[in-house]
Amino acid sequence: MDTRTLLQWPIIRQLTGDDPFGRGNAVTSEATASMTPRTADADSVANSVCPYCAVGCAQLVYGKDGRVMHVEGDANSPVSRGRLCPKGAASEQLGNSPLRQTTIRYRAPYATEWTDLDYDTALDMIADRVLEARRNHWEDADDEGNTLRRTMGFASLGGATLDNEENYLIKKLFTAAGAVQLENQARI
Ligand code: SF4
Repeated sequence: MDTRTLLQWPIIRQLTGDDPFGRGNAVTSEATASMTPRTADADSVANSVCPYCAVGCAQLVYGKDGRVMHVEGDANSPVSRGRLCPKGAASEQLGNSPLRQTTIRYRAPYATEWTDLDYDTALDMIADRVLEARRNHWEDADDEGNTLRRTMGFASLGGATLDNEENYLIKKLFTAAGAVQLENQARI
């Protein structure tokens, strides 16, 4: 073994270099030193929250050329401290999957094919259905004359990724409309 190779031993580098505790360059191999982070050529990074469940793990979303290139945990989050479960770690697929739906899809009664709807048309259709269900299933009082003033014609089932503010508004909206069946994925 020549002297040059001997000097490259981690213990020698640790004792003679600027990394006496062997936590950095003293124990870094040439292969490791030649590597670059997969995010090195990202042109943007955004703070985000994992969309999948109510834990709310924080994410760093790296972008390149207008697309998400990588998603990883944000170590600054007091919630998740840099961690993501496998589902959250794979959420790059949510943005980049070729199967992702980016338009409103509608299959009319008895139709065999799905069609695209524009937002205004879809919102009008939803509003019409809500109003009709409310009207057709309104209950002013029960059989004994007790006041009800409610509708059983529609209900709300929220997803666990809805935040406090969204849940507050959903509760207000549906209660004001007379609905009493309000639930959330996180409770069932
Ligand atoms: S990373 Fe996993 S645990 Fe965290 S919010 Fe996403 S799905 Fe939930």
